[in-house]
Amino acid sequence: MNIVDIINKKRLNNILTNEEICYAVNEYVKGNVKDYQMSSLLMAIVLNGMTDDEIFVLTDVMLNSGDRIDLSSINGIKVDKHSTGGVGDKTTLILGPLVASAGVSFAKMSGRGLGHTGGTIDKLESINNFEVSIDIDKFIKQVNEIGLSIVSQTGNLVPADKKLYALRDVTGTVSSIPLIASSIMSKKLASGADKIVIDVKVGNGALMPDIDSARRLAQIMVKIGNKYNKETICVLTNMNEPLGNNIGNGLEVIESIDVLKGNGPADLKELVLTLGSIMVSLAKNISPKEAEALLLENLSNGKAYNKFLELVKYQNGDINNIILSDKIVSIKSSKTGFVNSINTLKIGELVRNLGAGRINKDDVIDYGVGFVLNKKVGDYVLENEELLKVYIKNKDVSIVDIINCFEISEHAKEKEKLIYEIVR
Ligand code: URA
Repeated sequence: MNIVDIINKKRLNNILTNEEICYAVNEYVKGNVKDYQMSSLLMAIVLNGMTDDEIFVLTDVMLNSGDRIDLSSINGIKVDKHSTGGVGDKTTLILGPLVASAGVSFAKMSGRGLGHTGGTIDKLESINNFEVSIDIDKFIKQVNEIGLSIVSQTGNLVPADKKLYALRDVTGTVSSIPLIASSIMSKKLASGADKIVIDVKVGNGALMPDIDSARRLAQIMVKIGNKYNKETICVLTNMNEPLGNNIGNGLEVIESIDVLKGNGPADLKELVLTLGSIMVSLAKNISPKEAEALLLENLSNGKAYNKFLELVKYQNGDINNIILSDKIVSIKSSKTGFVNSINTLKIGELVRNLGAGRINKDDVIDYGVGFVLNKKVGDYVLENEELLKVYIKNKDVSIVDIINCFEISEHAKEKEKLIYEIVR
């Protein structure tokens, strides 16, 4: 077998055999297939797609490229959660303590920021001293003792995805349903949970630009989950504007705390309650309505926030020291009207360029920088009224670029739904 024949076969839109897919991935992980060959194959997959059977094989070979975590020593049904990536998406920070406060174990391995999207691990590190690199035995011990732990992925969990994702990121081969589905599901299956809930983001700040493609991604991920007897539920949600108001690591922790204390922006709260009630209903075998009532109670009686404090303490973080820049610039609207759209991708890129994310792999993050939106889609704004605040430190941002992200018109557009549909 040789890789050039496999590339040519996919370039001509033919179906690859199981052996060919396994050969390409395994030899790439070993270093025998080179980056330039794999990027060529990836581009052929982006352009010509894969059948469901090809995607199943790709997921399986990626899953088997490294370790699998055994969570069987944690009592109860373990439900994992994943997001395809968004701007201002801090749901994991809230969901973890919230579902744990309802007695559902939350054993979560999370990632760092990628492209214009943020990552839970970077956000948690904006809490001074918060430890994210914890070995697997301590991780499990923590979940058994306090009901939750959020750590960075271990070294050998799906190494094929690590290598492939880094290559996809720099070769324009991220946007592909087969590649996204196999990347996400191989990691979820390796992480050892019994059930999987995935937030599939749709819109101008997401990998999936429209509902049809998001639905196709969701359907194939549900099918992959079913193959491994892991019930998988996908929730298609709106990413045509940032989630909540705060974007940037420390700022997102502050907003998460607000929600955990029973306050916070309505969209973020709605999403957390939707995902959380699905997770709790799966784990406790109760109806989503009953689960939601439990979660609402724990947001108002302090249990959810106390769980967050337990998490921070256990992982050595200093809750009184969340990194935030003290240099704040107010950005005003140049006209009066309704905010009809927000270029979410661009907002994510601007916040990343400000230092909240990485452009190169080894860049050091500024945890304290970011945006706090004062206006979102549907809001009315007056000329010279504040659109947002920018928390700034070492890097500059163009005010014109920020203002251009907001489309402001005379007539109001109808507010879009946050939750589009659930695929199970
Ligand atoms: N998130 C992932 O983990 N993988 C992808 O390919 C896209 C989003």
